[in-house]
Amino acid sequence: MTDTDTMTCHICGDSVSEADSTLCTHCGERFHLRLRNDSDGKDCGSVWVNEEFLSLEFACLNCLGVRPEGAPSEPPIGLGH
Ligand SMILES: [Zn+2]
Ligand SMILES: [Zn+2]
Repeated sequence: MTDTDTMTCHICGDSVSEADSTLCTHCGERFHLRLRNDSDGKDCGSVWVNEEFLSLEFACLNCLGVRPEGAPSEPPIGLGH
C-alpha cells in the first residue's frame, strides 16, 4: 500500500474520493462515478446491473472501450498517453 490519502482516477488522473468513485469490476482500478444521481461530478465509466448475478457491475471507460467480458489483459489499441 502506498498513498492511501491520495486516490486518483486511472482514467482522467484527477483526484477522487470514496464518495465519488468506485472500483472497476473488470480491471480493479478506481475511477470517477457519481454514486448519486443528484450529485455533481463526472463519470469516467458506468454502472449497470448484471442480470445473471443480480449484482452491480462497474466498468471504467477503459474497459468499456475494450470488451467488458472475456478480454485478455491486452493494452487497448489506439489509446496513447
Ligand atoms: Zn476520472
Ligand atoms: Zn476498468
